[in-house]
Amino acid sequence: MSEFREKVRAWLAENVPGDEELANAKRFQAALYDAGLAGITWPKEFGGQGLTSAEQQVFDQESARYDLPNSVFRIGMGMCGPTILDLGTPEQKARYIPPLLRGDEIWCQLFSEPGAGSDVASLQTRAVRDGDEWVVNGQKVWTTVAHLADFGALLARTDPDVPKHQGLTMFLIDMHDAAVTVRPLKDMTGRAPFNEVYFENLRLPADAVLGQVGQGWLAAVTMLGHERVSIGGFVRKRHDPLAHANLAETARRYGRDADPVVRAELAKLYAAERALALFNVRLRQEAEAGSPPGARGSVAKLAGAQLQQQAVAVAGLIAGPRATAWEPGDAAGEELALAINQTPSSSIAGGTDQIQRTIIGDRILGLPREPVVDRDVPFRELRVGTQRSA
Ligand SMILES: Cc1cc2nc3c(=O)[nH]c(=O)nc-3n(C[C@H](O)[C@H](O)[C@H](O)COP(=O)(O)OP(=O)(O)OC[C@H]3O[C@@H](n4cnc5c(N)ncnc54)[C@H](O)[C@@H]3O)c2cc1C
Repeated sequence: MSEFREKVRAWLAENVPGDEELANAKRFQAALYDAGLAGITWPKEFGGQGLTSAEQQVFDQESARYDLPNSVFRIGMGMCGPTILDLGTPEQKARYIPPLLRGDEIWCQLFSEPGAGSDVASLQTRAVRDGDEWVVNGQKVWTTVAHLADFGALLARTDPDVPKHQGLTMFLIDMHDAAVTVRPLKDMTGRAPFNEVYFENLRLPADAVLGQVGQGWLAAVTMLGHERVSIGGFVRKRHDPLAHANLAETARRYGRDADPVVRAELAKLYAAERALALFNVRLRQEAEAGSPPGARGSVAKLAGAQLQQQAVAVAGLIAGPRATAWEPGDAAGEELALAINQTPSSSIAGGTDQIQRTIIGDRILGLPREPVVDRDVPFRELRVGTQRSA
Protein backbone atom coordinates (compact mmCIF):
# COMPACT_ATOMS: atom_id res chain seq x y z
CA MET A 1 0.00 0.00 0.00
CA SER A 2 2.83 2.39 0.83
CA GLU A 3 4.36 1.76 -2.62
CA PHE A 4 1.03 2.70 -4.20
CA ARG A 5 0.84 5.81 -1.99
CA GLU A 6 4.31 6.84 -3.17
CA LYS A 7 3.25 6.35 -6.79
CA VAL A 8 0.05 8.42 -6.33
CA ARG A 9 1.94 11.14 -4.45
CA ALA A 10 4.72 11.35 -7.06
CA TRP A 11 2.29 11.47 -9.99
CA LEU A 12 0.10 14.15 -8.41
CA ALA A 13 3.12 16.26 -7.45
CA GLU A 14 4.34 16.03 -11.03
CA ASN A 15 1.04 16.53 -12.88
CA VAL A 16 -1.43 18.69 -10.92
CA PRO A 17 -1.17 22.20 -12.33
CA GLY A 18 0.81 24.36 -9.89
CA ASP A 19 -0.18 27.66 -8.37
CA GLU A 20 0.68 30.06 -11.17
CA GLU A 21 0.58 33.06 -8.85
CA LEU A 22 3.11 31.44 -6.53
CA ALA A 23 5.36 30.35 -9.40
CA ASN A 24 5.22 33.89 -10.71
CA ALA A 25 6.17 35.30 -7.29
CA LYS A 26 9.16 32.97 -7.10
CA ARG A 27 10.28 33.83 -10.64
CA PHE A 28 9.99 37.54 -9.91
CA GLN A 29 11.94 37.32 -6.63
CA ALA A 30 14.67 35.24 -8.32
CA ALA A 31 14.91 37.87 -11.07
CA LEU A 32 15.22 40.63 -8.45
CA TYR A 33 17.98 38.65 -6.77
CA ASP A 34 19.85 38.07 -10.04
CA ALA A 35 19.57 41.80 -10.82
CA GLY A 36 21.20 42.68 -7.47
CA LEU A 37 17.98 44.23 -6.11
CA ALA A 38 17.04 41.75 -3.35
CA GLY A 39 18.08 42.34 0.27
CA ILE A 40 19.36 45.82 -0.55
CA THR A 41 20.55 46.56 3.03
CA TRP A 42 21.32 42.93 3.98
CA PRO A 43 24.94 41.70 4.35
CA LYS A 44 26.72 40.74 1.14
CA GLU A 45 28.11 37.50 2.55
CA PHE A 46 24.57 36.07 2.77
CA GLY A 47 23.43 37.25 -0.65
CA GLY A 48 22.34 40.80 0.22
CA GLN A 49 23.62 43.96 -1.46
CA GLY A 50 25.26 45.60 1.60
CA LEU A 51 23.85 49.01 0.58
CA THR A 52 22.22 51.72 2.71
CA SER A 53 18.68 52.78 3.53
CA ALA A 54 19.04 55.53 0.89
CA GLU A 55 19.16 52.86 -1.86
CA GLN A 56 16.30 51.00 -0.15
CA GLN A 57 14.26 54.19 -0.20
CA VAL A 58 14.91 54.69 -3.91
CA PHE A 59 13.81 51.10 -4.54
CA ASP A 60 10.65 51.60 -2.44
CA GLN A 61 9.76 54.84 -4.22
CA GLU A 62 10.26 53.43 -7.70
CA SER A 63 8.58 50.08 -7.00
CA ALA A 64 5.57 51.78 -5.35
CA ARG A 65 4.36 52.51 -8.90
CA TYR A 66 3.86 48.77 -9.42
CA ASP A 67 1.98 45.94 -7.76
CA LEU A 68 5.02 43.70 -7.17
CA PRO A 69 3.92 40.06 -7.32
CA ASN A 70 6.07 38.90 -4.37
CA SER A 71 4.08 39.73 -1.22
CA VAL A 72 4.22 36.05 -0.20
CA PHE A 73 7.82 36.70 0.95
CA ARG A 74 6.85 39.63 3.18
CA ILE A 75 7.05 37.78 6.51
CA GLY A 76 10.37 36.17 5.63
CA MET A 77 11.90 39.42 4.36
CA GLY A 78 10.37 41.73 6.95
CA MET A 79 10.60 39.62 10.09
CA CYS A 80 12.14 36.13 10.05
CA GLY A 81 15.18 36.99 7.90
CA PRO A 82 16.19 40.09 9.92
CA THR A 83 15.78 38.12 13.20
CA ILE A 84 17.95 35.27 11.90
CA LEU A 85 20.56 37.87 10.90
CA ASP A 86 20.40 39.34 14.44
CA LEU A 87 20.42 36.11 16.46
CA GLY A 88 21.31 33.18 14.19
CA THR A 89 24.49 31.11 14.21
CA PRO A 90 26.76 31.49 11.15
CA GLU A 91 25.44 28.11 9.97
CA GLN A 92 21.79 29.22 10.31
CA LYS A 93 22.47 32.44 8.41
CA ALA A 94 24.31 30.59 5.63
CA ARG A 95 21.55 27.96 5.39
CA TYR A 96 18.44 30.18 5.50
CA ILE A 97 19.22 33.70 4.31
CA PRO A 98 20.31 33.19 0.66
CA PRO A 99 17.33 30.98 -0.35
CA LEU A 100 14.98 33.40 1.43
CA LEU A 101 16.39 36.31 -0.57
CA ARG A 102 16.27 34.36 -3.84
CA GLY A 103 12.62 33.55 -3.19
CA ASP A 104 13.26 29.79 -3.12
CA GLU A 105 11.81 29.45 0.39
CA ILE A 106 8.78 31.02 2.05
CA TRP A 107 8.61 31.75 5.80
CA CYS A 108 5.85 32.20 8.37
CA GLN A 109 5.72 33.42 11.98
CA LEU A 110 4.20 31.01 14.53
CA PHE A 111 3.52 33.08 17.66
CA SER A 112 -0.23 33.59 18.32
CA GLU A 113 -2.38 30.92 19.92
CA PRO A 114 -6.12 30.79 20.74
CA GLY A 115 -5.35 31.88 24.34
CA ALA A 116 -2.24 33.95 23.65
CA GLY A 117 -2.37 36.92 21.27
CA SER A 118 -1.67 40.27 22.90
CA ASP A 119 -0.20 38.36 25.83
CA VAL A 120 1.83 36.04 23.63
CA ALA A 121 4.06 35.03 26.59
CA SER A 122 1.06 33.02 27.88
CA LEU A 123 1.44 30.56 25.03
CA GLN A 124 1.07 26.85 25.69
CA THR A 125 2.71 25.10 22.76
CA ARG A 126 5.29 22.95 24.52
CA ALA A 127 8.74 21.82 23.39
CA VAL A 128 10.10 19.06 25.63
CA ARG A 129 13.71 17.93 25.55
CA ASP A 130 14.26 14.30 24.54
CA GLY A 131 17.98 13.51 24.41
CA ASP A 132 19.49 15.83 21.79
CA GLU A 133 16.10 16.58 20.28
CA TRP A 134 12.99 18.59 21.16
CA VAL A 135 9.43 17.29 20.84
CA VAL A 136 6.78 19.93 20.08
CA ASN A 137 3.02 19.67 20.73
CA GLY A 138 0.44 22.43 20.52
CA GLN A 139 -1.50 24.81 18.28
CA LYS A 140 -0.98 28.20 16.65
CA VAL A 141 -3.55 30.45 14.98
CA TRP A 142 -3.71 33.35 12.48
CA THR A 143 -0.48 32.16 10.87
CA THR A 144 -0.20 34.19 7.67
CA VAL A 145 0.98 32.19 4.59
CA ALA A 146 1.54 29.00 6.65
CA HIS A 147 -0.20 27.11 3.82
CA LEU A 148 2.57 28.12 1.43
CA ALA A 149 5.50 28.28 3.86
CA ASP A 150 8.58 26.07 3.76
CA PHE A 151 9.85 27.21 7.17
CA GLY A 152 8.46 28.88 10.26
CA ALA A 153 9.80 30.72 13.30
CA LEU A 154 8.06 28.99 16.21
CA LEU A 155 7.80 30.30 19.75
CA ALA A 156 7.28 27.47 22.27
CA ARG A 157 7.41 26.93 26.02
CA THR A 158 10.44 24.92 27.08
CA ASP A 159 10.23 25.50 30.85
CA PRO A 160 6.88 25.85 32.68
CA ASP A 161 8.60 26.10 36.08
CA VAL A 162 9.84 29.65 35.59
CA PRO A 163 7.79 32.87 35.00
CA LYS A 164 6.11 32.98 31.61
CA HIS A 165 8.60 35.26 29.84
CA GLN A 166 11.61 33.23 30.96
CA GLY A 167 10.57 29.75 29.83
CA LEU A 168 10.25 30.33 26.07
CA THR A 169 12.52 29.29 23.18
CA MET A 170 12.39 30.12 19.48
CA PHE A 171 12.84 27.35 16.92
CA LEU A 172 13.25 27.34 13.14
CA ILE A 173 11.00 24.57 11.84
CA ASP A 174 10.33 22.75 8.59
CA MET A 175 6.67 23.34 7.68
CA HIS A 176 6.67 20.25 5.42
CA ASP A 177 7.26 17.87 8.34
CA ALA A 178 4.44 15.30 8.59
CA ALA A 179 3.95 16.30 12.27
CA VAL A 180 2.78 19.78 11.17
CA THR A 181 -0.86 20.23 10.06
CA VAL A 182 -2.00 23.49 8.45
CA ARG A 183 -5.70 24.40 8.18
CA PRO A 184 -6.85 27.53 6.34
CA LEU A 185 -9.00 30.26 7.96
CA LYS A 186 -11.22 32.52 5.83
CA ASP A 187 -11.36 36.24 6.54
CA MET A 188 -14.39 38.47 5.89
CA THR A 189 -13.33 39.17 2.29
CA GLY A 190 -13.70 35.43 1.57
CA ARG A 191 -9.97 34.93 1.14
CA ALA A 192 -7.87 32.60 3.32
CA PRO A 193 -4.57 34.40 3.94
CA PHE A 194 -3.94 32.78 7.32
CA ASN A 195 -4.26 29.42 9.06
CA GLU A 196 -4.43 27.29 12.16
CA VAL A 197 -1.29 25.17 12.61
CA TYR A 198 -1.10 22.02 14.76
CA PHE A 199 2.03 20.20 15.99
CA GLU A 200 1.81 16.55 16.97
CA ASN A 201 5.09 15.22 18.30
CA LEU A 202 7.15 17.36 15.93
CA ARG A 203 10.80 16.39 16.52
CA LEU A 204 13.41 19.11 16.18
CA PRO A 205 17.20 18.82 16.25
CA ALA A 206 19.20 20.86 18.80
CA ASP A 207 20.37 23.26 16.07
CA ALA A 208 16.76 24.31 15.36
CA VAL A 209 17.00 26.73 18.32
CA LEU A 210 17.31 30.38 17.25
CA GLY A 211 19.24 32.31 19.92
CA GLN A 212 19.45 30.60 23.31
CA VAL A 213 17.23 28.05 25.03
CA GLY A 214 15.02 29.98 27.48
CA GLN A 215 15.70 33.26 25.66
CA GLY A 216 12.73 33.01 23.31
CA TRP A 217 11.18 36.20 24.65
CA LEU A 218 14.26 38.17 23.56
CA ALA A 219 14.00 36.52 20.11
CA ALA A 220 10.26 37.32 20.00
CA VAL A 221 10.80 40.97 20.96
CA THR A 222 13.54 41.22 18.31
CA MET A 223 11.17 39.83 15.68
CA LEU A 224 8.22 41.95 16.82
CA GLY A 225 10.45 45.04 16.54
CA HIS A 226 11.21 44.15 12.92
CA GLU A 227 7.51 43.37 12.38
CA ARG A 228 6.31 46.76 13.59
CA VAL A 229 8.77 48.62 11.41
CA SER A 230 8.04 46.40 8.43
CA ILE A 231 4.23 46.72 8.79
CA GLY A 232 4.20 50.37 9.82
CA GLY A 233 7.00 51.31 7.43
CA PHE A 234 5.13 50.56 4.25
CA VAL A 235 5.27 53.05 1.44
CA ARG A 236 1.75 53.56 0.06
CA LYS A 237 1.63 51.74 -3.27
CA ARG A 238 0.33 53.46 -6.40
CA HIS A 239 -2.14 50.63 -7.08
CA ASP A 240 -3.57 50.63 -3.51
CA PRO A 241 -7.22 51.78 -3.80
CA LEU A 242 -6.83 53.54 -0.42
CA ALA A 243 -3.80 55.56 -1.55
CA HIS A 244 -4.46 59.29 -1.52
CA ALA A 245 -3.84 59.57 -5.27
CA ASN A 246 -6.34 56.80 -6.05
CA LEU A 247 -8.98 58.19 -3.71
CA ALA A 248 -8.65 61.58 -5.44
CA GLU A 249 -9.21 59.76 -8.74
CA THR A 250 -12.23 57.90 -7.26
CA ALA A 251 -13.65 61.28 -6.12
CA ARG A 252 -13.40 62.52 -9.74
CA ARG A 253 -14.97 59.31 -11.07
CA TYR A 254 -17.93 59.56 -8.70
CA GLY A 255 -18.29 63.34 -9.24
CA ARG A 256 -17.36 64.12 -5.62
CA ASP A 257 -14.19 66.13 -6.27
CA ALA A 258 -15.84 69.55 -5.98
CA ASP A 259 -17.27 68.84 -2.52
CA PRO A 260 -15.32 71.02 -0.04
CA VAL A 261 -15.53 68.41 2.73
CA VAL A 262 -14.12 65.71 0.43
CA ARG A 263 -11.33 68.07 -0.66
CA ALA A 264 -10.43 68.93 2.95
CA GLU A 265 -10.36 65.27 4.00
CA LEU A 266 -8.23 64.31 0.98
CA ALA A 267 -5.78 67.09 1.88
CA LYS A 268 -5.56 65.84 5.49
CA LEU A 269 -4.99 62.31 4.22
CA TYR A 270 -2.22 63.49 1.91
CA ALA A 271 -0.49 65.23 4.82
CA ALA A 272 -0.80 62.14 7.05
CA GLU A 273 0.55 59.86 4.32
CA ARG A 274 3.57 62.10 3.74
CA ALA A 275 4.26 62.56 7.47
CA LEU A 276 4.28 58.81 8.08
CA ALA A 277 6.49 58.15 5.05
CA LEU A 278 9.01 60.74 6.30
CA PHE A 279 8.89 59.38 9.86
CA ASN A 280 9.75 55.95 8.48
CA VAL A 281 12.64 57.31 6.44
CA ARG A 282 13.99 58.82 9.65
CA LEU A 283 13.62 55.55 11.57
CA ARG A 284 15.57 53.72 8.89
CA GLN A 285 18.34 56.31 8.74
CA GLU A 286 18.69 56.32 12.53
CA ALA A 287 18.79 52.50 12.58
CA GLU A 288 21.60 52.63 10.06
CA ALA A 289 23.46 55.14 12.22
CA GLY A 290 23.30 52.65 15.13
CA SER A 291 20.08 53.69 16.90
CA PRO A 292 17.49 50.92 16.36
CA PRO A 293 13.83 52.02 16.39
CA GLY A 294 12.96 50.12 19.59
CA ALA A 295 9.60 51.31 20.90
CA ARG A 296 9.39 53.92 18.12
CA GLY A 297 8.48 50.97 15.87
CA SER A 298 5.20 50.96 17.80
CA VAL A 299 4.63 54.58 16.74
CA ALA A 300 5.12 53.56 13.08
CA LYS A 301 2.81 50.55 13.50
CA LEU A 302 0.08 52.56 15.28
CA ALA A 303 0.31 55.50 12.87
CA GLY A 304 0.16 53.08 9.90
CA ALA A 305 -3.02 51.47 11.26
CA GLN A 306 -4.58 54.88 11.96
CA LEU A 307 -3.72 56.05 8.47
CA GLN A 308 -5.57 53.02 7.10
CA GLN A 309 -8.66 53.85 9.18
CA GLN A 310 -8.46 57.49 8.08
CA ALA A 311 -8.25 56.43 4.42
CA VAL A 312 -11.29 54.15 4.88
CA ALA A 313 -13.28 57.05 6.37
CA VAL A 314 -12.39 59.24 3.36
CA ALA A 315 -13.22 56.36 0.99
CA GLY A 316 -16.65 56.03 2.63
CA LEU A 317 -17.26 59.76 2.30
CA ILE A 318 -16.43 59.61 -1.41
CA ALA A 319 -18.07 56.34 -2.39
CA GLY A 320 -21.09 56.36 -0.05
CA PRO A 321 -23.10 53.12 -0.36
CA ARG A 322 -20.83 52.06 -3.25
CA ALA A 323 -18.15 51.39 -0.61
CA THR A 324 -20.04 48.21 0.25
CA ALA A 325 -22.40 47.64 -2.74
CA TRP A 326 -20.76 48.56 -6.00
CA GLU A 327 -22.41 48.55 -9.46
CA PRO A 328 -21.99 45.35 -11.51
CA GLY A 329 -18.90 45.73 -13.70
CA ASP A 330 -17.37 48.46 -11.51
CA ALA A 331 -14.04 46.65 -10.96
CA ALA A 332 -12.42 49.65 -9.25
CA GLY A 333 -15.42 49.89 -6.91
CA GLU A 334 -15.08 46.21 -6.03
CA GLU A 335 -11.38 46.64 -5.26
CA LEU A 336 -12.13 49.61 -3.06
CA ALA A 337 -14.80 47.68 -1.14
CA LEU A 338 -12.40 44.75 -0.61
CA ALA A 339 -9.71 47.12 0.69
CA ILE A 340 -12.23 48.70 3.07
CA ASN A 341 -13.27 45.26 4.38
CA GLN A 342 -9.64 44.29 4.87
CA THR A 343 -8.70 47.40 6.83
CA PRO A 344 -9.90 46.58 10.38
CA SER A 345 -7.23 43.86 10.51
CA SER A 346 -4.48 46.52 10.35
CA SER A 347 -5.39 47.52 13.92
CA ILE A 348 -4.99 43.91 15.08
CA ALA A 349 -2.22 42.20 13.08
CA GLY A 350 1.26 42.62 14.52
CA GLY A 351 -0.11 43.76 17.90
CA THR A 352 -3.30 45.75 18.44
CA ASP A 353 -3.54 49.55 18.63
CA GLN A 354 -4.14 49.28 22.39
CA ILE A 355 -0.96 47.24 22.88
CA GLN A 356 1.08 49.73 20.79
CA ARG A 357 -0.31 52.59 22.92
CA THR A 358 0.72 50.79 26.11
CA ILE A 359 4.26 50.29 24.75
CA ILE A 360 4.48 53.97 23.71
CA GLY A 361 3.16 55.07 27.12
CA ASP A 362 5.59 52.86 29.07
CA ARG A 363 8.74 53.15 27.03
CA ILE A 364 8.61 56.48 25.24
CA LEU A 365 6.46 58.74 27.41
CA GLY A 366 7.78 57.29 30.70
CA LEU A 367 4.28 56.84 32.14
CA PRO A 368 3.92 54.44 35.07
CA ARG A 369 4.05 50.82 33.87
CA GLU A 370 0.85 48.81 33.67
CA PRO A 371 0.40 46.73 36.84
CA VAL A 372 1.59 43.15 36.21
CA VAL A 373 0.60 40.44 38.66
CA ASP A 374 2.24 37.43 37.04
CA ARG A 375 5.79 38.60 36.32
CA ASP A 376 7.42 36.44 39.03
CA VAL A 377 4.99 33.51 39.18
CA PRO A 378 6.05 30.20 37.59
CA PHE A 379 3.99 29.63 34.43
CA ARG A 380 2.81 26.27 35.81
CA GLU A 381 0.92 28.08 38.60
CA LEU A 382 -0.86 30.60 36.34
CA ARG A 383 -4.47 30.28 35.26
CA VAL A 384 -4.29 32.12 31.95
CA GLY A 385 -6.05 31.96 28.61
CA THR A 386 -6.93 28.40 27.73
CA GLN A 387 -4.49 26.87 30.20
CA ARG A 388 -5.35 23.25 30.81
CA SER A 389 -2.45 21.85 32.79
CA ALA A 390 1.14 22.88 32.31
C1 LIG B 1 -4.38 39.85 9.30
C2 LIG B 1 -3.72 39.20 10.49
C3 LIG B 1 -2.56 38.47 10.31
C4 LIG B 1 -1.92 37.86 11.40
N1 LIG B 1 -0.79 37.11 11.16
C5 LIG B 1 -0.18 36.48 12.20
C6 LIG B 1 0.98 35.66 11.97
O1 LIG B 1 1.45 35.52 10.83
N2 LIG B 1 1.54 35.04 13.02
C7 LIG B 1 1.07 35.17 14.30
O2 LIG B 1 1.68 34.60 15.22
N3 LIG B 1 -0.04 35.93 14.55
C8 LIG B 1 -0.67 36.59 13.54
N4 LIG B 1 -1.81 37.35 13.78
C9 LIG B 1 -2.36 37.41 15.14
C10 LIG B 1 -2.17 38.76 15.83
O3 LIG B 1 -0.83 38.94 16.21
C11 LIG B 1 -3.12 38.78 17.02
O4 LIG B 1 -4.45 38.73 16.50
C12 LIG B 1 -2.98 40.04 17.86
O5 LIG B 1 -1.72 40.04 18.52
C13 LIG B 1 -4.10 40.19 18.91
O6 LIG B 1 -4.25 39.03 19.66
P1 LIG B 1 -5.70 38.36 19.84
O7 LIG B 1 -6.32 38.25 18.49
O8 LIG B 1 -5.51 37.11 20.64
O9 LIG B 1 -6.55 39.41 20.67
P2 LIG B 1 -6.57 39.60 22.29
O10 LIG B 1 -5.17 39.60 22.81
O11 LIG B 1 -7.52 38.58 22.87
O12 LIG B 1 -7.17 41.04 22.40
C14 LIG B 1 -8.58 41.32 22.34
C15 LIG B 1 -8.76 42.82 22.60
O13 LIG B 1 -8.31 43.15 23.93
C16 LIG B 1 -7.34 44.18 23.89
N5 LIG B 1 -6.32 43.95 24.92
C17 LIG B 1 -5.71 42.77 25.22
N6 LIG B 1 -4.80 42.95 26.21
C18 LIG B 1 -4.82 44.28 26.51
C19 LIG B 1 -4.12 45.10 27.44
N7 LIG B 1 -3.17 44.59 28.24
N8 LIG B 1 -4.41 46.43 27.46
C20 LIG B 1 -5.35 46.97 26.65
N9 LIG B 1 -6.06 46.24 25.76
C21 LIG B 1 -5.80 44.92 25.68
C22 LIG B 1 -6.70 44.07 22.51
O14 LIG B 1 -6.11 45.31 22.12
C23 LIG B 1 -7.92 43.72 21.65
O15 LIG B 1 -8.65 44.86 21.33
C24 LIG B 1 -2.46 37.99 12.71
C25 LIG B 1 -3.63 38.72 12.91
C26 LIG B 1 -4.27 39.32 11.81
C27 LIG B 1 -5.52 40.11 12.05
